Amino acid sequence: MYRPVLRVPDFPTLEREVLRFWEENRIFDKLREQTANGSPWSFLDGPITANNPMGVHHAWGRSLKDMYQRYHAMNGHALRYQNGFDCQGLWVEVEVEKSLGLQTKRDIRHYGIEKFVRTCKERVLTYAARQTEQSIRLGYWCDWDDPKLLLALRDALADGDRVVTAKLPSGRTETARASEIIRKLGSPEYGGSYFTFSDENNYTIWAFLKKCHNQGFIYRGHDVMPWCGRCGTGLSQMEVAEGRRITTHMSVFVRFPVKGQEGTALLVWTTTPWTLMANVAVAVNPDMTYLKIRHGDWMYYVAKTNFERNRIQELQVEGKHETHTLPSIRAILKGTGSVEVLEELPGRDLLGLTYEGPFDEFPAQNLPGGVFPYGVTGLGRASAESHLVVAWSQVSEAEGTGLVHIAPGCGAEDQQLGKENDIPFIAPLDESANFLQGFGQFTGRNANAVADDVVAALKASGRLVARERYPHVYPHCWRCKEELVFRPVDEWFIRMDWRDRIRRLVPTIKWIPPEGESREQDWLRNMGAWMIA
Ligand SMILES: [Zn+2]
Repeated sequence: MYRPVLRVPDFPTLEREVLRFWEENRIFDKLREQTANGSPWSFLDGPITANNPMGVHHAWGRSLKDMYQRYHAMNGHALRYQNGFDCQGLWVEVEVEKSLGLQTKRDIRHYGIEKFVRTCKERVLTYAARQTEQSIRLGYWCDWDDPKLLLALRDALADGDRVVTAKLPSGRTETARASEIIRKLGSPEYGGSYFTFSDENNYTIWAFLKKCHNQGFIYRGHDVMPWCGRCGTGLSQMEVAEGRRITTHMSVFVRFPVKGQEGTALLVWTTTPWTLMANVAVAVNPDMTYLKIRHGDWMYYVAKTNFERNRIQELQVEGKHETHTLPSIRAILKGTGSVEVLEELPGRDLLGLTYEGPFDEFPAQNLPGGVFPYGVTGLGRASAESHLVVAWSQVSEAEGTGLVHIAPGCGAEDQQLGKENDIPFIAPLDESANFLQGFGQFTGRNANAVADDVVAALKASGRLVARERYPHVYPHCWRCKEELVFRPVDEWFIRMDWRDRIRRLVPTIKWIPPEGESREQDWLRNMGAWMIA
């Protein structure tokens, strides 16, 4: 009555038998015929990036999607069964750059943007075909393109955009240049998976941007933002949050001699020594207590709590939790000489002091108005002439010396503080995070590769007081893992004034499921200016 069953079931063989049965008996086609007159149920697929073979985590998600579709088909609905492939963005570009051995944006321009875009499309077609094969093997029912057709289109595109004859999932046959067919993949007359590189998708995005532009929501901005020198691009806050990692940097304690107070200096601390070349000001908290201390031949200003207390570093990122106890600044200084506290004073007494910066010999420090990489130079005094101690309520007792080195061209908060105090702006890096002209021996070198040489230069000029390996959470590029820098961008933004208008529209939409409404509101609430890039 029953066929014998293997004691240890051979699942791969069983699966292939089921797939063969489905194919030989056209089971999927029969299901679609059966439900053709049912009420429509439309699943909108969030597309998988066609950049590599599918991983197990993709297979999980796809199995769930398949289950939903099957469930609704079993209830008699007519479904669209359209899978999507995401073809755009840096995921694809970074892989193509690797395969071509390109290092920077400039390399891409040299290679040729059109050729590069074509190579990206070829990669997408390669992996769309692969992921289609994998999905079919998974048993996922969709209106699939023939993987062999996708590969044939790829080869014809690579081979001078040959004319091909394509049999499409809708049953239609088309003879045209490969590029003509590729740009219409997924359209209603072709059927099959949708591809985000389609004309329809691209022109819709441009149409949306045009609408924004007509209403005055698009502007060109120069805000200081996190930047990846390797990818040559700015990163959004969301992207930065993905690349935060615990990193140990060489931090330095540097003396900035106070003008008019012989033998007295500000004790300044930073974890990014390269930014010292762009130093313009020093910030103190007017309401914190500071000390004047003697250490060897010098007297320093330093915040009292920071000076006396061991520094506890609680680092928490991506499930990792580390606690580091670092010695007090007093203990660090004691290692190289005796320390004596001379007097206590409020931070406000330091406001308005002027000082000699650590790299005032560089031409960049002596240019009126400073350095701006996008061709607009501000007017006014040079940085070296105007180094000033300014007030900033964000200076805390938790970190550093309580005297914060301010480089408006290397940090968003610094930029803001610079604007408030009308001080020069020095942005030292180009798009690849290499130093621009005017930075002495560092010109042309990468910001992430100069830390040791900056320390050596500070030592040679007698500015280095101490150094310390300092663990902290630092942002990295989520795509290529490079450490990020901060620099002004030259980008187009969508002004978020329209946010409130959209928020008023949100409740008028029928949300399926209903919790979509609060998600959308949350997303809009948390959105800053939107960089188009
Ligand atoms: Zn990167």
